[in-house]
Amino acid sequence: MSDIWESKIQAPFNEEQVQKLNEYQQNKSFHPYTCGGGYGCCKRDISYAATKDGWICPCGVYTQNWAHTVTQDTSKIKCV
Ligand SMILES: [Zn+2]
Repeated sequence: MSDIWESKIQAPFNEEQVQKLNEYQQNKSFHPYTCGGGYGCCKRDISYAATKDGWICPCGVYTQNWAHTVTQDTSKIKCV
């Protein structure tokens, strides 16, 4: 059985990917991608926003250029 969290997509993201990533962030069923600055830079639970160039934190400091492929098809995410 393959792990759905092993596969990743890399920025730049296309428009559809950006839209799905932001939908993922809004979905309360999933843990959102959050700032790499953690407790130092950002308060807890500050979520990244997806852009074509990758994730960017509202703090403007931290970014991330990849996401898990499964964010593009969340029907594959199952609770265990
Ligand atoms: Zn931040």
